[in-house]
Amino acid sequence: MKPPHALVIGAGIGGTAAAIALRRAGLDVSLFEQTMAQREVGAGIQISPNASRLLGRYGLGDAMARAAVRPSAIVFRRWQDGRVLGREELGDSIENRYGAPYYHFHRADLIALLADAFGPREIKLGRCLVDVEQDERGVTAHFQDGTSERGDLLIGADGIHSQVREHLFGEEKPRFSGQIAYRGLAPAERVAHLGLPLDVTNWVGPGGHFVHYFVSSGRFLNFVAVSEEATWTREQWSDRGSISDAAKKYEGWHPQIATILTAVDETFKWALFDRDPLPEWTQGRVALLGDASHPMLPFMAQGAAQAIEDGATLAACLKHAAFDIPTALRAYAALRKPRTTTVQERSRGLSTSFHLHDGPQQLERDHVFATRGVRGSPEALNRLYGHDAEVATTTLEEEQ
Ligand SMILES: Cc1cc2nc3c(=O)[nH]c(=O)nc-3n(C[C@H](O)[C@H](O)[C@H](O)COP(=O)(O)OP(=O)(O)OC[C@H]3O[C@@H](n4cnc5c(N)ncnc54)[C@H](O)[C@@H]3O)c2cc1C
Repeated sequence: MKPPHALVIGAGIGGTAAAIALRRAGLDVSLFEQTMAQREVGAGIQISPNASRLLGRYGLGDAMARAAVRPSAIVFRRWQDGRVLGREELGDSIENRYGAPYYHFHRADLIALLADAFGPREIKLGRCLVDVEQDERGVTAHFQDGTSERGDLLIGADGIHSQVREHLFGEEKPRFSGQIAYRGLAPAERVAHLGLPLDVTNWVGPGGHFVHYFVSSGRFLNFVAVSEEATWTREQWSDRGSISDAAKKYEGWHPQIATILTAVDETFKWALFDRDPLPEWTQGRVALLGDASHPMLPFMAQGAAQAIEDGATLAACLKHAAFDIPTALRAYAALRKPRTTTVQERSRGLSTSFHLHDGPQQLERDHVFATRGVRGSPEALNRLYGHDAEVATTTLEEEQ
């Protein structure tokens, strides 16, 4: 019997990882990307064990270890004086606990190793999806260049402004969260005098926070600087931000932040958008994945990790011949939605906690950091990092 043909729209981290997982599950996969080259912003990304475990199974263990940095700890520091508010070990400690490493990547390195695993020449570039049609026997994707492709199912992994989502459920713009992020990379030699350890450091303070960690085998220090901004219009959008504007947001903060910013050649400015959890992710033979289905604020560093998990659960659901495709897609959504909704909501909650002005609530937060940990309770961490998105399907099988 011919394997089902999956059309995956969007070759970002979510779509490419899903394409690998679907192929491993025996499907015939076509992966489409609107741009002429897979692109990722010049910035870092944290990949936690719940996602690195899956990528390891896809045969990417050695490639990840070569490209990434394994941080030793996560440290929270006070904005003004740098006092350590809390610290938790990562490194061996997290790897031994969850059986997979915590990694820091340059985004381009991560997307390149995913593309290599799928087969870079097999990604159909320059194909921008404009319409989707489905009937009882299949689904057709129509592209801007006038071409179309027929498959048995279609996965919309086309990001927060998803065309596939709009096609299924109508137009609804994501909401500007009132926060922007400056991101960039400093060559490691320019910050060598700071003697920074291989930690991920989060400086938290009034109206913003500033994160930095090494990527690309330690060649660059990545930073993400999140601050509040009242409005954001598309006209103001620019990929490139100004380093001096970023530095102004952190005036009065610990001098290490200004030192890092002055070591950077260019910075990119991003508006952070949010969306309430969608009521539905699927319709017939079409389903959403990654930011298309559950965009989240970046405060738990989980958007890409959850997208990678989506692909693993989707592939595991489709592997079972007993399910017809629409049923398999509904099973996928039923398994994933409660988890991603929790992560979306917790991420949103952290935007308040990280940005507290000095006062009673800040003192209470700092007390929690010092006494109960910086990333939540051990049980919550076990649920987040210990989750195996492939194994999760067996529960559903047992329930059938
Ligand atoms: C500041 C910041 C920091 C973050 N840090 C982390 C972190 O540390 N760890 C983490 O796990 N997550 C993090 N995230 C979240 C993470 O970046 C996203 O969740 C993740 O990249 C989403 O991947 P995706 O593949 O779903 O979507 P995208 O990366 O948006 O990819 C969508 C792809 O679809 C393509 N596309 C769009 N429309 C079409 C179309 N019509 N036809 C064909 N192709 C199309 C796009 O060109 C793109 O390549 C962060 C986010 C931000 C903003």
